[in-house]
Amino acid sequence: MDMPAPDQGVIARKARIVARLRAVLPADAVIDAPEGLRVYECDALTAYRCPPLAAVLPRTTEEVSAVLRVCWEHGVPVVPRGSGTSLAGGAMPTADSVILGVARMNAVIETDYANRFIRVQAGRTNLSVSGAVEAEGFFYAPDPSSQLACAIAGNIAMNSGGAHCLKYGVTTNNLLGVTLVQMDGTVVTLGGPWGEPSGPDLLGVVCGSEGQLGVVTEAWLRILPKPEGARPVMAGFASNEVAGACVADIIKAGILPVAIEFMDRMLIRVCEDFAHAGYPDCEALLIIEVEGSRAEIDEQLALIKVIAARHNPVAFVEAEDEAQAKRIWLGRKSAFSAIGRISDYMCLDGTIPVSSLPYVLRRIGELSEEHGLAVGNVFHAGDGNMHPLILYDANKPGDLEICERMGADILKLCVEVGGCLTGEHGVGIEKRDLMAVQFAPADMEAQMRVKDVFDPKWLLNPAKVFPLATSLTRRAG
Ligand SMILES: Cc1cc2nc3c(=O)[nH]c(=O)nc-3n(C[C@H](O)[C@H](O)[C@H](O)COP(=O)(O)OP(=O)(O)OC[C@H]3O[C@@H](n4cnc5c(N)ncnc54)[C@H](O)[C@@H]3O)c2cc1C
Repeated sequence: MDMPAPDQGVIARKARIVARLRAVLPADAVIDAPEGLRVYECDALTAYRCPPLAAVLPRTTEEVSAVLRVCWEHGVPVVPRGSGTSLAGGAMPTADSVILGVARMNAVIETDYANRFIRVQAGRTNLSVSGAVEAEGFFYAPDPSSQLACAIAGNIAMNSGGAHCLKYGVTTNNLLGVTLVQMDGTVVTLGGPWGEPSGPDLLGVVCGSEGQLGVVTEAWLRILPKPEGARPVMAGFASNEVAGACVADIIKAGILPVAIEFMDRMLIRVCEDFAHAGYPDCEALLIIEVEGSRAEIDEQLALIKVIAARHNPVAFVEAEDEAQAKRIWLGRKSAFSAIGRISDYMCLDGTIPVSSLPYVLRRIGELSEEHGLAVGNVFHAGDGNMHPLILYDANKPGDLEICERMGADILKLCVEVGGCLTGEHGVGIEKRDLMAVQFAPADMEAQMRVKDVFDPKWLLNPAKVFPLATSLTRRAG
C-alpha cells in the first residue's frame, strides 16, 4: 500500500507541536510517547500500520477547535478517529499526523422523545445510543455489527449501515444534524433536531465524507419507537446461486423484511462454532427477519415461505423464542470475529444490484480458484451489500499482495455489474486506488473541489479516498 512521504519538517518540529497541544489540552489528553502511540498505528484493517506523530483525546468541541487551530497554524495533518474499527484503513495515520480521537466525547446531551431525537457527543458508541433510550421503548436504527465498539463519529464519517438497514436506511437516513469543526478551528452547525432547514444538503455532503471535511463533535440522531415484535427465520439452500435467486425473488415480490442476511458454508460453520445458533447444515443460509404485530409477522413469513419453497430449501426454521432469535443474530453479527479465529482475512465491501447476486457469487468462486485463496461470503443480501472475506496468511511472503489483487478483482466485478466500490465501509486507503474504476476524472475533480472548500490546505485525513497521483498537486499545496 503506497502512502505519501511524511513531511520531515513537521516531524522535526514534533516537540514544539506537542508543547502547543499541551498548552490547549489537559495533560492526560496528549500522547506522544512511542509506546502510547502504538494503539493508534492502525484501525481494523490491521495489514497496514504507521505510528502517528502524536495523539490527542479532547473532551469538548472547544478543545477540538483549539487542537485544530494549532495543527492549522503548524501545517500538521490530522486524522480524526472514533473507535478505530474501520475496515478500510480510514483512520490509519501517517508519520507526520496527529490522531484526533473522540473516544472521551461520549455524553448524551439531550433526549427528546416527543420529537424523537437524541443529541450525543460523537464519540458515543452506536449501541449505547440505543441503550440510552431503550427504557422508554425507543432505539437508534443503524446497527453495524461492530456496534458495541464503533462510535457515532465513525458511523457518520463512513455512512455506516448494518443488518437492519434494509428497512430503516443507513446512517444518512437517520442523521438530523451535526456540530462540525473545520480544519481552521471554526465551529459550524449543520441541520439540528429538525434536519436541515433549506439550501444545499451540506449534512448529506458531510455524512460519508470519511474525515475529509471536518471533525464531527456532536450529532442529532433520529430515534424510533421499538417495533411490537420481530422474528427471524433461517432458510438453508443447496447452493449460493439458489440462495441469491431467492433473495432477488423476495425483493421483486415487494416484501420488505427488516433484514435479509446471507452466509455461505464456510461462514455458517465458523459462526455456528462461535455462537451455537443451530444454523442448518447447508451450502448457503439466509437469515430473514420481519417485524410488526404477531399477525403482520405471520402474514409476511407465510409469503416468504412460499417464495423460498420455489427454490427447494433444505431447511426453513422460524425462531421459536427470544433466546433463539438472539443466538441467530449473535452468530451473524460475530461473523468477522469468528472468522478471525481461524485465519487472517481481508473484508471487502462492494455493492451490487440484487438481481446480479447469483452471477457475482459464481464469479467470486471462480476468482477464488484463480488466485488460490479461499473466500467466505457473508453480507446484507437484501440491499446487495457484499462482504467477501478473503483468507490469507500474513506470515507467508506474497500472500497479502495476492489477497489485494483478488480483492481488487472482486470490487471491479461489483462496478462491472452496475454496483459500486463500497456499500458501508467507505473507501479509506483500501479502495483509494480503485476510485478510477468507478469515477471519471471529472467526477473525482468535482469531489476534490468540495474538499478544497472545507479543507483548503488538504490537512485532514491524508492519503485516503483519492488516488495519490490524482490528489498530488493539491496535497503538495
Ligand atoms: C467486526 C466488525 C464489524 C463491522 N461491521 C460493520 C457493519 O455491519 N456495517 C458497517 O457499516 N461497518 C461495519 N464495520 C466497519 C466499522 O465499524 C464502521 O466503519 C464504523 O462506522 C467505524 O466507526 P469508528 O468509530 O470505529 O471509526 P474509525 O475507525 O475510528 O474511523 C472511521 C472513519 O471515520 C473518520 N472519523 C472518525 N471520527 C471522526 C470525526 N469525529 N469526525 C470526522 N471523521 C471522523 C476517520 O477519519 C475514518 O475515516 C465493522 C468493523 C468491524 C471491525
